[in-house]
Amino acid sequence: MLKVNRIDVYYGAIQALFSVSLEVQKGEIVTLIGANGAGKSTLLRTISGLIRPRTGSIHFEDIDITKKSPMEIVKLGISHVPEGRRVFPEMTVLENLELGAYLRKDKQGIKEDLKKVFERFPRLYERKNQLAGTLSGGEQQMLAIGRALMSRPKLLLLDEPSMGLAPILVTEIFKIIKEINSQGTTILLIEQNAHMALSIADRAYVIETGKIVLSGEAKEIAANPEVKKAYLGG
Ligand code: ATP
Repeated sequence: MLKVNRIDVYYGAIQALFSVSLEVQKGEIVTLIGANGAGKSTLLRTISGLIRPRTGSIHFEDIDITKKSPMEIVKLGISHVPEGRRVFPEMTVLENLELGAYLRKDKQGIKEDLKKVFERFPRLYERKNQLAGTLSGGEQQMLAIGRALMSRPKLLLLDEPSMGLAPILVTEIFKIIKEINSQGTTILLIEQNAHMALSIADRAYVIETGKIVLSGEAKEIAANPEVKKAYLGG
């Protein structure tokens, strides 16, 4: 479904990604694990069109999206939940969710999806008229995911959804990610919480200083001694 082929990405003169290749098949949860600054967010930003790779290509469902705009990429079915939630604080929960559907015209479908999001996140329904900036961290993360779902994505890119959340909420967020996947959305998940990410993923990639150093079945990666030492606390 998604094919990233040997991309090099730069910030000015500094190279952040080195010939990175990665694939996601329809229906999978794929996780990308790596330390701070390894290039995880950069890869997601490049897939969603916010940064252009200098070389290499990105295909989504056999369409070359390497040079497409972020808007075109959302329209094709990729939705990105950036790190740090980034909801619109001065808008209500409902307004934030409606914005997630701004590229769609099928009013009936939007209504159905809004209902689904509220069913999945009852807390958001209870707070639909509350300003998003006054939600708790966990609620804002749910809102950010809910907003992304409002574009009815085929592929959801999640950047550190568990960051800054209490352990009980981390478990809940991972459960929700798994449910979203089992209802048909393919997922590419970036995480520092490698343990949790590997427990729900089908396959995994490990990135170090801008290079993919390892990939395979999530179970194999979790059992790899080097991965255990570096990312799973020994
Ligand atoms: P983290 O989990 O800390 O966000 P990451 O793996 O997502 O880490 P990136 O944010 O992709 O890492 O950063 C990769 C490299 O690119 C880092 O060396 C970072 O300093 C650099 N970088 C990221 N954004 C920019 C930018 N806007 N300008 C210049 N350099 C950047």
